[in-house]
Formats: sequence, C-alpha cells, structure tokens
Amino acid sequence: MFDLIIKGDRVVTPHGTGSYEIGVKDGRIAALGGPVGLSGAGAGEAGRVVDARGRIVMPGSIDPHVHCAWPIPSRDGSSHILSGRPPEVSRAALFGGTTTLIDFAPWNPGETLSESIARRDRDWAGQCHCDYAYHLMLQGEVPEAVLTELGEKIEAGYPTVKIFTTDITPSRRGRMIRFGDIWEIFKVVAARGGLAVIHAEDNDIVMHMYDRLIGEDRVGFEHLAEVHNALSEELSFRRVIRLAENVPGTALYMMHTSAASGVEAIGASRARGFPIYGETLHQYLMFSAADYRKPNGQIYHTYPSLKSKADQSSLWEGMRTGAIHSVATDEICCTLAVKTQGVRIDDTTGGNAGVEPRLSVMYTQMVSERGWPLERFVALTTTNAAKIMGLYPRKGALAVGADADITVLDPTPRTVRAEDLHEADYSPWEGQAVTAWPSMTILRGKVVVEDGEFRGEPSDGRYLERRIPNTVREGTISD
Ligand SMILES: [Zn+2]
Repeated sequence: MFDLIIKGDRVVTPHGTGSYEIGVKDGRIAALGGPVGLSGAGAGEAGRVVDARGRIVMPGSIDPHVHCAWPIPSRDGSSHILSGRPPEVSRAALFGGTTTLIDFAPWNPGETLSESIARRDRDWAGQCHCDYAYHLMLQGEVPEAVLTELGEKIEAGYPTVKIFTTDITPSRRGRMIRFGDIWEIFKVVAARGGLAVIHAEDNDIVMHMYDRLIGEDRVGFEHLAEVHNALSEELSFRRVIRLAENVPGTALYMMHTSAASGVEAIGASRARGFPIYGETLHQYLMFSAADYRKPNGQIYHTYPSLKSKADQSSLWEGMRTGAIHSVATDEICCTLAVKTQGVRIDDTTGGNAGVEPRLSVMYTQMVSERGWPLERFVALTTTNAAKIMGLYPRKGALAVGADADITVLDPTPRTVRAEDLHEADYSPWEGQAVTAWPSMTILRGKVVVEDGEFRGEPSDGRYLERRIPNTVREGTISD
C-alpha cells in the first residue's frame, strides 16, 4: 500500500509527458504507472489519492541560486541588515512549487571551510521548510591550506565553488579573486571532481565606469547597465572561460548571464567541446534596462544589471539553442523600503524577491506565450539544475527511486499580487497575468502546500550532499 497516489494526465517524466499514476511510499516515488495506471500489489490502495487530471504534474522545482540571511549593505556600505531568512524564503519557495534551494556558504579570511559551513548551518539547520544545499563561496586571497581543504570538501559533498571576478561595487572590496588564484582553484576543482560557479564581470571595466559616471555626475541607478555592461560580460566570460579551458578537467557554470555577449561566449566554448553551463534569471528574461526608469525602478535590478531588449532576446534564444541551461532567481528577499533605499549606481540593493513566482512566470512565458514543450520548461526550471548541481535523479525527476518532491500546477489564469505572495511587500511581477500556479507542493511525500494552505514545518528541510557526475563534468546533461 502506498502512502499517496497522484493521478495525472499531464505528468512530466523523464520518459515523456502523459497519463501516469505516481505511487509514493516512505518519502520516495515507489512506482510510476503508465496510461492504465499502477498495477500489481498495492495498486489503487493508498493513504490518500490525489486526482490531478487537468493539471500539470512535475518534479518539485530547484532554484540553484539564492541568498538567505544575506548581508544587504546600507547606502554608504558602513553597516548591513540581513535579507530574508531560510524559514520565510523556503516557505515562499514551497508556495511557488520549489522544493530545493541552493544558497552559499561564504568563506571569510582567517577561517576554515569547516567553520564557514558550520556558520551557515546555524542559519539553516532546523529552519528550512524545503531541502537545501550550499555552494562554497571563496573570496579575496585564498591561502594554500584552504585550497587543500577545498579538495576535501568537494569530495565530502560540497562540490560547487563560487568565484567572483569582480568586487561588484566600489564599497564591496574583497570579493574579487585574482586570476592567478582562480587558476589554482580551478586545478583543485578539476582534480577533485567539482564544478566552479562563476560571477564574471570585468572588474577594470566596471570600476572604470563607476569612476567615469560619477565624474560626469550621472549617478542615478537608471545608468546601471552602462556600468555593469555587456562588454564587461564579454571580456570577463571569455577570460575566465579561456583560463578554465586550459585546466583539463575543469567545468564551469556561469551564474546570472545577462547579455548576448555572455550567451555567445558560452556557446562558443561549448562548440569547442568545453563543459560549460549557463544560468540566467527570470528577472533578466522579463525586464530590460528601460524598466529602471519606471517608478521604484530599483525593484527590477539584480547585479550585474538588466540589459537591452536585444540582450534579453539572446537569453531566450540561448535557452533554445543550449547555451543557457537553467533559470534561477538570485533571491535576496527584503522589503520595498530596503530594495529602494539606494538610488545611485553604487548603492542600489541587488537580488530580488522572486522565488515564489519563478515557476508560474516561466510557465507562462515558455509554455503559454512561446508554445515550448512542457519538457523544456521543466528542464530549464528544474531538471537541468538538478543534473548540473549533482542532485539528479534524487531530485528533478518523477522517476522510481527519486525523492517524492512533486509540484502540481493548476492552469487557471490569475494575476500576480504581492499581497498574495509570502516573501516581501512588493513584487517586480505585480499585476502580471500568469497562466498557471501551484495548487499542491509535496516534499519527500509530505503535502506541504495545498490550495493556498501551508502545512510544512521548519524542521522538514534536509541538507543535500552532492556529487557532480562525470557526464556533467564532461559537458553533457542528457541521460
Ligand atoms: Zn547571487
């Protein structure tokens, strides 16, 4: 007997989309029956049967790029407050059909990576409603002892390593890692089976543009795309990619790709046979630099920056052609007052409150607006991230043996309203029409959201140790 059976006629599985019955037992998918349903012992018997016909049934979604309890600098950079914490962000994620979040464990100079991870565990353990993991985040000058420890951590289930090629803004010195040091990190990542996840901007160009625009007294945030510009993305992507291509065994994941030049750099590298993957954000797929001029235009901003409509078109094209593999949020949840506190190119708050509407907004854009197959939507929002980040097939698949993380989307049109969401007092997507919304989210067999009612506990989430498969490190994410 199953704990739960879900019957659907648009169930997205690795074998295709169609009529299936999913049998859940002890938190896992124990059986998957074809069009005629489950057969054999226990078929038709369950603690509960959910009829999801007429709806879309997909694996619980994965957001591979969020920042919870993250320091948001004050306008002058002298102090900070923390962004939304794991309990509230994970709750919003589940309301939005996302069952796994990947955040960051930043390493600070003077500490070991074990201490960095332990510090992050204090923010997360027992406080997350969904499953979660961290990318290790290096910054500044990385000592030899930390490089040694990095190899151990990669093998111990922390296989992704975040690297900045820029300080991002003049007041945030210390994040950038110099190229020689990145080279050494890549050697460790390659030798020990990791994946480097990169925030790439050309620091010289970015800081030059800060100086230049401040000198010209054009400091309003509406000029952010001139500072964090497409040329910077081109130069930095190509430089870090060429470095990685010269360290055999390295694989890259380019975070928050925002420009056509970034898409082209990834595509060119893939054409050379290098294992590189592109991430973009639903923010970049929906808004452009022109939106900075709308009222409260900061709410559309995420670093690096929004770019032109042409860049946005390239991101969409890149998802079709295989240069862009996943759509993340770069979530930094805060209030409207904090999001709009900065008004200049050098003090505007980054990140966005987007973890809840991500799936619905992308379903609308991909499936309803562009007519893309459901499988591609699920791949770009969920399955590819699971594969690239070393979670597949435990996560990202409706398949026997996988965790029973299941999202049911109700294809009834509605309008995004911040007041209906669960993370912030504003939404960049306010007033947008969407064509589906999660009506049920299941985490490892437990129904945690049903018809707008939350039934999860902050103790439900589990840390996910990961390992990057060789196929991903060799450049393929197909089965
Ligand atoms: Zn980020």
